[in-house]
Amino acid sequence: MNQVIGNLNGIDFTLGETLLELSYLLAALLFVYGLKLLSHPETARKGNFYAAGGMVLAMVTTLFLHKNTDGQTIPVTNVWIILAALGVGTVVGWIMALRIKMTAMPQMVSFYNATGGIASALVSLLEFPNADMGNTGSVLVTLLGLIIGSVAFSGSMIAYGKLDGKVGDIFSGFMKYLNMFLLLVVTALTIFIIVSGQTPDQLSWAVYLLFVVSLVYGVMFVMPIGGADMPVVISLLNSFTGIAAAMAGFIYNNQAMILGGILVGAAGTILTILMCNAMNRSLLNVIVGAFGGGGSTATAGEQGEMKEISLSDAAILLSYSKSVVVVPGYGLAVAQAQHVCREIDVLLDGKGVNVRYAIHPVAGRMPGHMNVLLAEADVPYNQLVEMESINPDMPNTDVVLVIGANDVVNPAAITDPGSPIAGMPIIRAHEAKNIIVMKRGRGKGYAGIENNLFFDPKTRLLFGNAKDTLQKLVSEIKSL
Ligand code: NDP
Repeated sequence: MNQVIGNLNGIDFTLGETLLELSYLLAALLFVYGLKLLSHPETARKGNFYAAGGMVLAMVTTLFLHKNTDGQTIPVTNVWIILAALGVGTVVGWIMALRIKMTAMPQMVSFYNATGGIASALVSLLEFPNADMGNTGSVLVTLLGLIIGSVAFSGSMIAYGKLDGKVGDIFSGFMKYLNMFLLLVVTALTIFIIVSGQTPDQLSWAVYLLFVVSLVYGVMFVMPIGGADMPVVISLLNSFTGIAAAMAGFIYNNQAMILGGILVGAAGTILTILMCNAMNRSLLNVIVGAFGGGGSTATAGEQGEMKEISLSDAAILLSYSKSVVVVPGYGLAVAQAQHVCREIDVLLDGKGVNVRYAIHPVAGRMPGHMNVLLAEADVPYNQLVEMESINPDMPNTDVVLVIGANDVVNPAAITDPGSPIAGMPIIRAHEAKNIIVMKRGRGKGYAGIENNLFFDPKTRLLFGNAKDTLQKLVSEIKSL
């Protein structure tokens, strides 16, 4: 491996170094190809496999072929420690992935996001004492890794708590100013560390203070966000983790880490922009934590009575319609009702009913949640219609079947400027000729606000767990 096999610009390179660089190139290709496959539900599993393969390849070759500036490979004891840590991480991750319920997946993603963030922050913290203070670029990269990684860690842990229902929203106008102040402290400390001219040892207090303030900022930044705006924050934190990992890659001059981090950062940033557009929010508002909250204090609106519909009437209404639009939401995911929902769609299709699914970009609890669920139930992609495309068709739709969706069909987003979801684009279910809503009771959606759609004279409710109700509906439709 130490055999010199070439020379470039006067620098010898060995077989080991060449293999290492080639393995990084191959890993990069696998990441990019994996990402491409992830863009379609049918190929996503394969994409995950290729990208993970690229990561394993980069880890193995780094472990055995990487050399430090003195030409030394990683000491054998360290290799064992790293392998042990990888082993423990793999077993814990494997067990968690097997045990996790599909509906708790968003929480798990947030948790993993947090671990990625803290790993990058710790790399910066541990490597700062070795920083070359004369090299401003390298010090800045180390500090950015620390700041972004810490914010991603504490912010993702709060997001995890919120998605799991363990942490509520705390909102006060004051927090906006506190957040700005914390950002100011972070910026001031960063500039001070770079320009002070002191040694890393002398600056260790400032670096630890920066670590703590960044952690606090992460908490404060996610804490007030509620009122249905969490998807934006989740994708933003995801991009932070990627950027922090890329910074850690710069510290070690490791191309695989840099590229992996940049890909996650870029994908997360694109998703954040898409989510912001979907929620009609500006990214600046997200960063200063200025929106959301207030969900619990929202008023109930001018409620009337919720009218029920019998299963047989629902079956008749659906069977004799020309056009039915299903609006799936979080309740469909919790009930795991996607397969039986597909059964109904096939039955209705057999009766000549045109059945389509209206997909809201933030329905469920993770970006793309509904696409994943419906793909699992083999719903053809041409039946999934984006919100913007289906909305103009709503007035011509005979029946909208709302299955466990709430916020994404709440007309308050259009009619009530004081609502926490004001301005959020919705699926205009209220414009259809008839609306059937499946839910268990009077439970609210994620934003914690009342939904006047359920009291609309055109709306009738089928109470109960979505899966059970749909199963009974299948029997009713079959018996017609
Ligand atoms: P919501 O959370 O607004 O509403 C879910 C509805 O499902 C509730 O009304 C509930 O009523 C009903 N429900 C719950 N369990 C069942 C069940 N077993 N059977 C039948 N019904 C059930 O869901 P939406 O999909 O409409 O909206 C998603 C919300 O989550 C948005 O506010 C979005 O911003 C937010 N969010 C989205 C994320 C994403 O990335 N997609 C991430 C984080 C948050 P009841 O209790 O009466 O049954």
